[in-house]
Amino acid sequence: MPSDLHDALYQAYLDELRETHPKVRIIKKGDSPFCRFIDKVLKVVTFGGQRRFLDSFTTTFGNRIYVPDCWWMFTPGDRYCTLRHELVHVEQFKRYTWPGMILLYIFLPLPAGFAGGRAYLEWEAYRESLVATWQVHGELEAKSPWLKKRIVGHFTGPEYGWMWVKGSSISTRYDKAIERLEASPPPPLPEPLALPTGEPADLFLGDPPVDGEAIA
Ligand SMILES: [Zn+2]
Repeated sequence: MPSDLHDALYQAYLDELRETHPKVRIIKKGDSPFCRFIDKVLKVVTFGGQRRFLDSFTTTFGNRIYVPDCWWMFTPGDRYCTLRHELVHVEQFKRYTWPGMILLYIFLPLPAGFAGGRAYLEWEAYRESLVATWQVHGELEAKSPWLKKRIVGHFTGPEYGWMWVKGSSISTRYDKAIERLEASPPPPLPEPLALPTGEPADLFLGDPPVDGEAIA
């Protein structure tokens, strides 16, 4: 999809979410004492390996999608792809409930190293990231070595608490996901013709987005 349509695509997706997921809220992490607390915990349990929780990562708890304060610095296409990933987590919270997600994400069968529950949940979301990337940025971007390295690195590194240290198995999964997409490419996204109008700020709690980046 041409990049000049990405902003309209992102806005249209927010409108769609308002219809399909009316309970979803997008919240800046800096406005959340809960996220600031988790940031401190992560810095301790990863021995300083995860220091970018507040300013580089988007995190979903239930219907709340917590975005970095610099969310509006991301390109609209990247914001769209990130929300597609996070919506998978929203659905997972519905499917497994909060206690189920806590068990799966943190404890089963191990909290780190071979945290199969967390790896399963994140792989499902990153598979959606791949599909969204393919649709928005194109096949070459989805197949780019840097993207593969980044995603595999999330599984093997400290950002997600070393959730699956055997990087070769994630790499194989990635390759197989790409093979499936090559065999059966995702449908092109409907091209938004114009920026939708309306007042979209009800998706947000806390301060509205910074000037010039209002989501209307
Ligand atoms: Zn995720």
